[in-house]
Amino acid sequence: MKNIVIALLCMLCGLATMHGQNSKIELMPLPYSTDALASVISQHTIEFHYGKHLQNYVNTLNDLIKGTQFENEDLQTIVLKSDGVIYNNAAQVLNHNLYFAQFSPTEGGKPAGRLADAINATWGTFEQFQQIFEAAGVGLFGSGWVWLAADKDGKLTIFRAANAGNPMTEGLKPILVFDVWEHAYYIDYQNRRAEYLHALWSILDWKVIEGRY
Ligand code: MN
Repeated sequence: MKNIVIALLCMLCGLATMHGQNSKIELMPLPYSTDALASVISQHTIEFHYGKHLQNYVNTLNDLIKGTQFENEDLQTIVLKSDGVIYNNAAQVLNHNLYFAQFSPTEGGKPAGRLADAINATWGTFEQFQQIFEAAGVGLFGSGWVWLAADKDGKLTIFRAANAGNPMTEGLKPILVFDVWEHAYYIDYQNRRAEYLHALWSILDWKVIEGRY
């Protein structure tokens, strides 16, 4: 009997450990090779930006949520419910996941369908939207993110955020995002932020971005 109880306890321990491992925040897999975007974002930048900066936010977040109410929560829930240093690291993981997932070496071009219609309705043309979006990134003081975001009725807005800001905290859905931290472009473009922002259009995968709308 004693052995059976011990065996059962061990099974429960095993399950608890497995659950803990499953809920750990993981580094997202890149949907392309590290050199695939080299015409715009070099392999060197990807290796640092994805391999070091994003990995570090993931590691720090996992350390910070250990033993807290967020330990078994998903990333979006942590971003919505946390603040301070846990929010900063969780939002940086989510922001980078959205950033890296929206690129593809064979894409570029323009949005289509409902998203294209909504952009045209708001800014007149896609080209005008591009200009305003780039200018928002150039004009952001310090580190942050420039977002295309949608409200619950699908109305689009450009959301500019310092540091780890994410439009979800304002009830908006993230659609497209450009990283305006220097670590995103300094290796390839040094201080030429405008050049970096302008180049990003040619590697956007609009099917991924339209899927978020
Ligand atoms: Mn970054």
